[in-house]
Amino acid sequence: MDSYIVIGAGSAGCVLARRLLDAGHRVTVLEAGGEDTNPIIANVHEAGGLWHGPEDWDYYTVEQPGCSNRSIHLPRGKVLGGSHALNATIWVRGAKQDYDTWNYLGCPGWGWEDVLPVFRAIENYDGGASESRGTGGPLDVVADFPMNPVQESILAGAAEMGIMINADYNSGDVEGASRMQLNIRGGKRFNTWQAYLRPVMDNPNLTLLTGATVRQLLIENGAVAGVEFLQDGAVQTLRADETLLAGGAVGSPRCCCARGLARPGSCARPASSRCWTCPVSGRTCTTICSPRSFSPPLPSRCRHRRSVRRKRTCSGSPIRTWRCRTPSPFISRCPCISWTP
Ligand SMILES: Cc1cc2nc3c(=O)[nH]c(=O)nc-3n(C[C@H](O)[C@H](O)[C@H](O)COP(=O)(O)OP(=O)(O)OC[C@H]3O[C@@H](n4cnc5c(N)ncnc54)[C@H](O)[C@@H]3O)c2cc1C
Repeated sequence: MDSYIVIGAGSAGCVLARRLLDAGHRVTVLEAGGEDTNPIIANVHEAGGLWHGPEDWDYYTVEQPGCSNRSIHLPRGKVLGGSHALNATIWVRGAKQDYDTWNYLGCPGWGWEDVLPVFRAIENYDGGASESRGTGGPLDVVADFPMNPVQESILAGAAEMGIMINADYNSGDVEGASRMQLNIRGGKRFNTWQAYLRPVMDNPNLTLLTGATVRQLLIENGAVAGVEFLQDGAVQTLRADETLLAGGAVGSPRCCCARGLARPGSCARPASSRCWTCPVSGRTCTTICSPRSFSPPLPSRCRHRRSVRRKRTCSGSPIRTWRCRTPSPFISRCPCISWTP
């Protein structure tokens, strides 16, 4: 039996930990956030209410030239379930061409035909099993739910304009307009923490530590030997045969950078300390930047408006923030990221 440390109990970390437990290994999962007790997490339509709260790392980008040089809020989950506890639960595999291109460019095993069986094994799709879709997997994928009449009209409008209606955008072909497929169960958010790790919490080989923030990787004899982490104000170390980074697109490189595993010049460690070179680290990060769709500025006469508060933007200038009586999906309460065309 090998011992493993998994850093982060997010989308990936929960799956990795479960697979290792199923294979009979000993696993310690370290999660910086706490338990997913906030009732907003379950209600996907209120997800914007989690932003800037305890379950959000509340990152901001550097100033973005493509967004009038504004610094954009980058929500990331800090809770059991990770970003899947904050996200919109829209199940999107991606395009066949992208996987095949990665394979072609030098990532063997990432072609569409390679990943398809994995996707099928993950899914419990309510549209039924087929060559491209799976049923009976741990993660519910739901397409059959009542849509808002506005959404129905958008689909009808797309068809009227001649845009192809794609019956299943997860079949490999993402072109066209579609009904969304969601990770929900009983109308509530259903993420990999709930699907993979929570059901095996009584496994004696599993140790799950919450409120445990990994500060850096322990490197001994040129290899990662474990981690140094902070929990309840105390710095502790933990060693294992293998350490798996599942801290997310920001959290994982951050752990590496703290130990000097970074692109030359990008590391915050003092020049005198030893740095290991990782030429691509941080260079290829691409993520959704959706200041408009996720945070439309509320009109000043918004009928939902309950209170107006004075705040300061990240750059220090005063702003007004609104709280909605009936929060709409993904309306951020931080208008400093609203879109300026
Ligand atoms: C607002 C929002 C909406 C989104 N909408 C969608 C959508 O609808 N559909 C979709 O497919 N994708 C969506 N995404 C993206 C998707 O949620 C992420 O790509 C996915 O969850 C990332 O999984 P991950 O395992 O890489 O990281 P995460 O799920 O973020 O997990 C990382 C975990 O590691 C923990 N961690 C980080 N650093 C440390 C540390 N130093 N020590 C200990 N623990 C640490 C974090 O707290 C977190 O729990 C959305 C994301 C956001 C933020």
